[in-house]
Amino acid sequence: MLRGTISLGQVAGIKVGAHWTSIATLGLFTLLLGRSLAGSYGNSAGVWLVAAVGAVGLLATLLAHELAHSIVARRNGVRVERVVLWLLGGVSELDAEPKDARSDLRIALAGPLTSLALAFGIFGVAVLVGTAAGQSVLDMLVWLAAMNLVLALFNLLPGAPLDGGRVLRALIWRRTGDQLYAAAMAARSGRVLGFALLILGGVELILIGNTGGIWLVLLGWFVSSSANAELAVAGLRHQLGDIRVRDVMTQHPVAVPAAWSVADLLGSPAIHTDHQVFPVVDTAGRPVGVVSWTDIAAIALPARETALVGAVARPLPAGARANEDELLSTAATHAVLRPDLDIIAAVDSLGRLIGVITASDLTLACHRSALNLPVRSARRPSTRP
Ligand SMILES: [Zn+2]
Repeated sequence: MLRGTISLGQVAGIKVGAHWTSIATLGLFTLLLGRSLAGSYGNSAGVWLVAAVGAVGLLATLLAHELAHSIVARRNGVRVERVVLWLLGGVSELDAEPKDARSDLRIALAGPLTSLALAFGIFGVAVLVGTAAGQSVLDMLVWLAAMNLVLALFNLLPGAPLDGGRVLRALIWRRTGDQLYAAAMAARSGRVLGFALLILGGVELILIGNTGGIWLVLLGWFVSSSANAELAVAGLRHQLGDIRVRDVMTQHPVAVPAAWSVADLLGSPAIHTDHQVFPVVDTAGRPVGVVSWTDIAAIALPARETALVGAVARPLPAGARANEDELLSTAATHAVLRPDLDIIAAVDSLGRLIGVITASDLTLACHRSALNLPVRSARRPSTRP
């Protein structure tokens, strides 16, 4: 989901990354805590060191919150792509939706419960340690406990994409048995919540003149735009019903071997098609990337003889690969959330490329499905990717 993310390794078998914006979060919290500590105990290097440790501690507890979601998700049969820290905290990149309301509820509650437990745990440590390690360390521990309490409570606000929205979704799902309806309700609630946060932040910023309002404005913007995306996905899933990837994909796509030179591609029959983008495959026929005419045009004329297509191609992003048996709505979800996705590569059980779905294929499938027409026109030639 996020570009510009560096890997921090693995925790409990789950990949962990940090987006560059998490540096800003670290800096901001060091500044906020440091200014407050310096106000009480005087400006010294020691006070700023304690503030920096507190900020790192906060990011570590944010990570623990996300890892709790991910570990419970994995235990409930949902694959986890990775956990990423960014400007507004952490996100767990789950690969699929929970399969029942009970799993949905467990995954949603795991994060806030972890934050709550951390809040009490850290407060307990603060009580035990007392002023033995210095007054500023005690203040830092109490701050860390309070931040985790706020984190747990804020995340329980009932609107998607916050954890409370997921809880709401799970409860409506359990009561009605309708996952799509539940997801749409949670997303609508998230839209209202995001709007309310934006207004609150705006009031704090403009009327009261408190710069902390920026934080609420950012959060409100994030919550409402995520809720809108989730609403779009819910609508898409409703429209696409049980259509599979195989029903919509164009079979026998014109694929370009990664080992070809750019000159090979320019001399191949591919130039006689009207495609903008071609899937690039390895020697086993598995899709590894995409290459467009724009990518090719960027290669200087003399270099085209030697430049390999595999080196020019852009790697296939996560979510751009779908099994032919997969629900089209699941595959399409990734396309909606990632506007930079050129094509979805349909693969067989061995991971070999057997078809391609473009954005216009998706749009067409939605329209035809909404009109109760067969998703694929019988007259559509099978060679048009
Ligand atoms: Zn959470």
